[in-house]
Amino acid sequence: MPELPEVEITARLLHGALEGAVVESALAPGINTLKSFAPPLDALAGQRVDRVRRRGKLLIVEFGGELALLIHLMSAGRLQLYDTRASLRDRTSRLLIRLADGRELRLREFGTRQAAWAKLLPLAGLEGEEPLAGLGPEAWPVAPHDLGERLAGSRPLYAALRDQHLIAGIGRSWVDEILWAARLSPFKRGADLTATELHSLGEAITTTLGGAVAHYDGTLALPIPDKLPMPLAVHRHAGEPCPRCATRLESVSFEDYVMSYCPNCQTGGRVLKDRRLSRLLK
Ligand SMILES: [Zn+2]
Repeated sequence: MPELPEVEITARLLHGALEGAVVESALAPGINTLKSFAPPLDALAGQRVDRVRRRGKLLIVEFGGELALLIHLMSAGRLQLYDTRASLRDRTSRLLIRLADGRELRLREFGTRQAAWAKLLPLAGLEGEEPLAGLGPEAWPVAPHDLGERLAGSRPLYAALRDQHLIAGIGRSWVDEILWAARLSPFKRGADLTATELHSLGEAITTTLGGAVAHYDGTLALPIPDKLPMPLAVHRHAGEPCPRCATRLESVSFEDYVMSYCPNCQTGGRVLKDRRLSRLLK
């Protein structure tokens, strides 16, 4: 589940190792991974890597002052740097960028779905390309100053905070951690936040994401592990005691993910209805 902290550390590590490296060739074993047609992937041959950076949950690799590879890891992708070339039998390979020094930058994806994607684009005008163009301001290092206005719609916080158009970088894992840190109910509507709650939320976004980035900075190294050990306190910890008050953490299951929270810290003791369960009982 790469979100802002995971993508940030990936960009940092790769930038440090790749700046100045020259591309020998590039190929895309993933069936639908490359979502752009021009320029062709071959245009990368001979290009020098200028920079690897992050915007929201997207990775951007810039080449030769002219080209940019925009990458979305989706839920199961990794961008990894290896000293040797991938075996052609590696079924996780989606995009391979071979470097003249023998190393290889690999976009790999775990699981059966092929969802991770990349676009090779001219660097000029890159910020106008979707989904970059539609991204809200970064969630970190400072939460948007107009956070209250951004969240003021009727949607609950667990959904609004993950809307990349409103604020960029937060996904399913870190939204649980942020709302727990801020002691806010996931189902509270942004429009109902008091000034104090809004302040706590802004602080929680900054400290939670910043803490995760710092944690990864001290623990992760290239090639970037297949399984990222995420420092989560609440998400995926339903049934365990809350690290702050020891109350049993509860969860709500949605179609494709599970949201976790502490009833004592976040919902005034109320256990929220499990929507999957209530639908089954209808
Ligand atoms: Zn608690």
